[in-house]
Amino acid sequence: MTETEKLSVNPAKKASLSPKAIIHQTFGDKACYKVEEVQDSTQNECPGLAVQQKGPCLYQCTLQLPEMVVVSDPCRKKKDAEQSAAEKAIEKLGIHQKEYNPTVQEARDDLVGRLTFLFADEFLSSPHPLSAHFRAALRREGEFSGCIPLSVIAVCDAKIGNICKFINPLAEVNLLEVMTQIQKAAEKVPDLIRTYEFEQLALQRRNPYPNEIKPSSVDHELDLEFQLVKRIPIEVVRIPVSLDKAVESLTLNISATGYYLDDIAPELGMTEASDILISRTIGRASSEMRIYYTAPKQQHPREILVSQLVEASRSETFLNVRATYMTGQEISGTAILASVGYRWKSTDLFHEDVSLRSYYRILVNMIPSGAYRISREAVIAARLPLAFTTKNNWRGSFPRDILCTFCRFHHLSEPLFSIKSNSLNSSPGANVSRKKLKVNESSKEEKSGEDLAAASEDPAGHNGAFHCEVKIYTKSRHLILKCSPKESFRKQTDATQSTALKVLSWLNVFFEKPDLSREKLNLYAEKLDILLTPDLFKNFVLCHPVHKLESRRLVNFDSSDISKESEPSIDIGGQNAGITPSIGSLACISYTASLVIEEGCKKEHLESCEQFEFEIGNEAVLPHIEAAVIQMGVGQSAHFQMDLLPSDYILAAAGDSASALSLLSSKSCKLEFNLTLLRVTEPLEERMEQALFSPPLSKQRVEFAVQYIKESSATSLVDFGCGSGSLLDSLLLYPTSLEKIVGVDISQRSLARAAKSLHSKLNRLVDTKDPSCKIKVAVLFDGSITKFDSRLYGFGIATCLEVIEHMEEEDASLFGDVVLGSFCPKILIVSTPNYEYNVILQKSTPQSQEEDPDDKNPPQGCKFRNHDHRFEWTRAQFNEWASGLATKHNYALEFSGVGGAADVEPGFASQIAIFRRRDSSPTSMVLVHNYAPIWEWSRKDLPIKEEAA
Ligand code: SAH
Ligand code: MG
Repeated sequence: MTETEKLSVNPAKKASLSPKAIIHQTFGDKACYKVEEVQDSTQNECPGLAVQQKGPCLYQCTLQLPEMVVVSDPCRKKKDAEQSAAEKAIEKLGIHQKEYNPTVQEARDDLVGRLTFLFADEFLSSPHPLSAHFRAALRREGEFSGCIPLSVIAVCDAKIGNICKFINPLAEVNLLEVMTQIQKAAEKVPDLIRTYEFEQLALQRRNPYPNEIKPSSVDHELDLEFQLVKRIPIEVVRIPVSLDKAVESLTLNISATGYYLDDIAPELGMTEASDILISRTIGRASSEMRIYYTAPKQQHPREILVSQLVEASRSETFLNVRATYMTGQEISGTAILASVGYRWKSTDLFHEDVSLRSYYRILVNMIPSGAYRISREAVIAARLPLAFTTKNNWRGSFPRDILCTFCRFHHLSEPLFSIKSNSLNSSPGANVSRKKLKVNESSKEEKSGEDLAAASEDPAGHNGAFHCEVKIYTKSRHLILKCSPKESFRKQTDATQSTALKVLSWLNVFFEKPDLSREKLNLYAEKLDILLTPDLFKNFVLCHPVHKLESRRLVNFDSSDISKESEPSIDIGGQNAGITPSIGSLACISYTASLVIEEGCKKEHLESCEQFEFEIGNEAVLPHIEAAVIQMGVGQSAHFQMDLLPSDYILAAAGDSASALSLLSSKSCKLEFNLTLLRVTEPLEERMEQALFSPPLSKQRVEFAVQYIKESSATSLVDFGCGSGSLLDSLLLYPTSLEKIVGVDISQRSLARAAKSLHSKLNRLVDTKDPSCKIKVAVLFDGSITKFDSRLYGFGIATCLEVIEHMEEEDASLFGDVVLGSFCPKILIVSTPNYEYNVILQKSTPQSQEEDPDDKNPPQGCKFRNHDHRFEWTRAQFNEWASGLATKHNYALEFSGVGGAADVEPGFASQIAIFRRRDSSPTSMVLVHNYAPIWEWSRKDLPIKEEAA
């Protein structure tokens, strides 16, 4: 495939759009679907059937649109009911996506035809917004009466815009091109329409409208006479050409009865409406927000003039970069962003204030992460998460929807998703290489493109049957980006969302790190299975100057520094209820973010939320918030200050832009957070295990280990992959012969928590002089258990509970070899989930049924218990792994488990292998230290006795 893949057909082929997609394009959020269960009446028509017997459940969908309500046929699936309703609405509205593909000549004729229709008598009373312009233009005074700006015709009638594209594709981005074509077409019907060669970019109907249909202008004239013209103040935003000048808010006084464009003109230094050029709408489909700007003064006949204008508007000094970026149209000169105009079926002028905050929200919405933050209503606190772990844990807009909106805002075609299903590759053991959901363990870790790539590499991936590929094309059908991840998923939605998120992650880095080299961007793209074409860079040329500007405006902000977060000091206070969040759990916080100036104690509130939920370990919030929350318990509060974010984010949040701006200009301005941890929802695995087992499985695992410790009278224990120390902690509650306990893990965060809890528990035991506790030494090591460390050689007992499934399968084998071949404990206990047991867990846990009801996959074994699991083995797979190792390293092997029973299908919930060393004196040992001790505790009063191996 060539890099620049050109297609002869429109990739987002209209015919392939689903009815819902067509409705969405037309009505956006205004379309409201309601699905209800209905009884299958056809079943009861059969005389032989028992009347009481409930037929299969059917769904009916009611679709509410601004102008009508339609009800679908009964369908077996909710989705089908919605599509059916959409289809019916399309039929009623007559908005079928007809193939319109005229020749240039046909398009020219159609344009003349359309103009003839617009200037006919009948149109004046039509509900079309353009007709309201015609009526308002009739209220203009003197020679301008009935004079309607070319730009208004160009932007208010969708049909005209569409026809013009076929005459010249430039019409898509350049309004002047559309206006020229309208002018030319109007010249062909001189009896109906009057054109102006000089001076005015306007059209006028040649003959007056018949009196019966002409709107009364008496009121307006009277108002004028008595100087009673009602003025409506509306807030607008002025966007200067020069990037060095800030955008600013201003108030326009629009006359309620006159022609509003005549009131905007003076603000742009012009005298009347036809000097004004108008952009297409910005944002939602239903919005009336547009940019108003000016055509340069004209002194030449039309032909020359227009071509000059086109040239002039393209010259860099004249181009309004910000306005052009926002609209995707070439906009020249000073621009005014306003939300005012006529809407369908309404005779009144619609108007809404556009604040500076609205302007910045539009800007921020054009960045993927910004769009996500806005969808969460947390512009300051939220970040685009690293991975799509599960639908249940996702908050805010879904990646696919964000990507679609992104494409709309950037004037690209709808992204094209294609799903490939591969039913052969759905065995649970299928070897798909996946990286671990990486938690930002250390904040010193600088995120270059590569690190980011590694971190976001398919953490959610579950080997399964669906692959998803997405392609993004420009409106002119050039491929700009293609993402085809190798990994497959058990669910179609997971495949789609994960692929969309990959694209968003790349785009986000591209937008937020303007200084990243092409090379790094390409490398990062490669890691995400993304193919870029040069057209991508051509398409986004303006994004950097615009977004960079916003960070440049700040005194103490360096855009190359976003990831180099300085570690703020976090004050944590309040009673800790003992529930702490862990990776994969959902934390719910309340927070307030403000701008502060240290000395002056000046403060400006930016954003707050009473209940904000996010997944721990998924970079779904600012790193500082996650760093704070991970150290907190439910009920505790934290307070900290941090460096500023780019100012466009801050201004998109600030209610009072003026005072936020004045604080931002101070060198000592900081962002301040106050937050409280309200609750923690544990990952599905824990929820399932707790709901089903009593005592909980984790406790049963501990008791299982204790039984072996007692039986073997071991004096030393190492817990490989100790996590937050749940086993080590609980061991202290039982009288054992242990004198030395050690934990090893790679998660510093978990280790820190283990240290905190062990420290206080051990000291308490010593203080209370508990005779059952013989422990003299406790150590926690930071290190990977696939590496050997001679300090842990020949221990009495080693445990590795629910850890191997968090590693790649090859690492699980490596660990097996290292532990039995080098560490040589007398006993090794390894536990891991039994995949076959998942059916029972999933059936009995209500949370797992929240999933997509239309999911075609049966619930049996359709997913792992925890999204961080790399694999879950059946009994046979576990047996194979363990027996191989036992034979190789001369260990005796026995299988057991907790939860359920060995002889009842499908076996234990957690399967356990117990290895016993056969050699009394194992192979020689090499002195190596691969682990870093991060915490040590010893009972000073007692000597330490070395264990005989
Ligand atoms: N054994 C604990 C924790 C299980 S969660 C318990 O039963 O509660 C899995 C743990 O394995 C995590 O803390 C993770 O950090 C750790 N882990 C995963 N891969 C590891 C590796 N290669 N080396 C050390 N620890 C690892
Ligand atoms: Mg696990």
